[in-house]
Amino acid sequence: MKITNDTSKQLAWEKMENLLPAVIQDSHSGRVLMQGYMDQEALAKTLESGKVTFFSRSKQRLWMKGETSGNTLDLVDISADCDQDSLLILAKPNGPTCHTGASSCWFNSELPTMTFVAELEQILAERKEADPSTSYTAELYSKGIKRIAQKVGEEGVETALAAAVQDLEELKNESADLLYHLIVLLQASNLSLNDAIAVLKARHNK
Ligand code: AMP
Ligand code: ZN
Ligand code: ZN
Ligand code: ZN
Repeated sequence: MKITNDTSKQLAWEKMENLLPAVIQDSHSGRVLMQGYMDQEALAKTLESGKVTFFSRSKQRLWMKGETSGNTLDLVDISADCDQDSLLILAKPNGPTCHTGASSCWFNSELPTMTFVAELEQILAERKEADPSTSYTAELYSKGIKRIAQKVGEEGVETALAAAVQDLEELKNESADLLYHLIVLLQASNLSLNDAIAVLKARHNK
């Protein structure tokens, strides 16, 4: 169930003694960022302000995540689980979500494959602003779109050749090179993997 001001009354507040667990997930990468608790007031405040706000059990008051650190969470979507006693919130983080400075409170967990790719893409996007002498990716951007396009062509041919002779180690390596350079090429064109994946999705739905 999607949660709005209207549907929030249908949540299992009574059963949960007015405190629902809320799992916060990065809306882009799907990474689980943190978990907190919301009472009705915290949920109403989150919906109204667009900033994820919890009821802090230690402070015993409303707590907007980032109120002192500035590392707020911009609300994207709220939904309830099958029996309306748990919330899943998609958000865009402004800075690290964990108070340790890590982007997620589960900083030691393995990332699901696509979550890793999405995080890598974000890092590669940030490199557009970096000093070319400090990063291979920044240097690649500085060489311009034609050079990046050429790299994608080369890596594509290397991938095809490795597959043709069934050198599987080489195929894995060249595929990694190709994927990396493709992400950089899309970024240099102000596009993202999502734009390509949206095309696959549209075809899939036909
Ligand atoms: P902040 O809301 O980011 O301004 O942080 C305020 C205080 O909330 C911190 O000093 C921590 O005690 C606590 N805190 C911040 N982020 C988290 C988190 N992800 N999980 C648990 N506690 C947190
Ligand atoms: Zn449940
Ligand atoms: Zn934490
Ligand atoms: Zn290569």
